[in-house]
Amino acid sequence: MFFVRFKIKNIFSLWFLAGFVIGALLFARYYIASEIESSKLQKKIIPKYTKEVLEKPKEIKEEPQASQAAKIRFPIIMYHYIEYVKDPNDTIRRSLTINPALFEYQLKNFKEANYQMYFVREIPDILSGQIKTSTRSAALTFDDGYEDFYTNAFPLLKKYQTKATLYIVANFVGRRGFLNEMEIKELLTSGLVEIGSHTFDHAYLKRANPAYARRQIVDSKKKLEDEFGVQIKTFAYPYGAFDNSALDLVKQASYSAAVAVISGTIQSEGNIFFLSRLRPGFLAGPKMIGVMENFPK
Ligand SMILES: [Zn+2]
Repeated sequence: MFFVRFKIKNIFSLWFLAGFVIGALLFARYYIASEIESSKLQKKIIPKYTKEVLEKPKEIKEEPQASQAAKIRFPIIMYHYIEYVKDPNDTIRRSLTINPALFEYQLKNFKEANYQMYFVREIPDILSGQIKTSTRSAALTFDDGYEDFYTNAFPLLKKYQTKATLYIVANFVGRRGFLNEMEIKELLTSGLVEIGSHTFDHAYLKRANPAYARRQIVDSKKKLEDEFGVQIKTFAYPYGAFDNSALDLVKQASYSAAVAVISGTIQSEGNIFFLSRLRPGFLAGPKMIGVMENFPK
């Protein structure tokens, strides 16, 4: 009798153990698979700073009536990751990353140099004079919607009460390594973060199929508006790639401004749909304020 009871108890604990092991293996498999998927995705969307995107495409014309309009020096700084890169051999990621300590140092520099940060959506009103600015104004932009914006950048933006514009890839929300819905809602509630669209799938928009481009530019705006209950006013071209068709769709979708990766600090109504930006490579150290003030036109 004792033997039978012992056996049954043993069989139960064996089942329990087996269940636990299988569960742990499944979880590990899921965890590793999603880590791999996320790192593949992040590698795929890495910007390529080629001549094609760093200079204004030849076929793109500035608005003719805008040639008389005010041009202002308004640096828009482009960030991707704010983190300590774990893998020292990951040179691409290191080149796209500002570590949190350096980011905090930059935020202090901005304050000390009397820089006021604005949302990208405020630029049209700044250009038309509806928003009066101090002489030193700029914007911070973060592309792709990585989770480290929430964990590393946001606490510092709150500490220094600095505004930033975040470009979200609608279909990446909630994926491993990217911001989730709750985090984005919290960012919006703070009043320190504007969100803009960075398409549905991080789409390359130069020479893109028109229906595909329309979905990426027009429908992604609607999707983010429905999901987060805010107006999406600005757009960032993934990889900085755009052409006249993409530009027209951005206008048709009633965005009020868009950012590219054309290097520069001068903005006007003539380039309101392909605003110039400065990329992190320029900003590795204390020379940053000098670059913001003296970058050649
Ligand atoms: Zn991007």
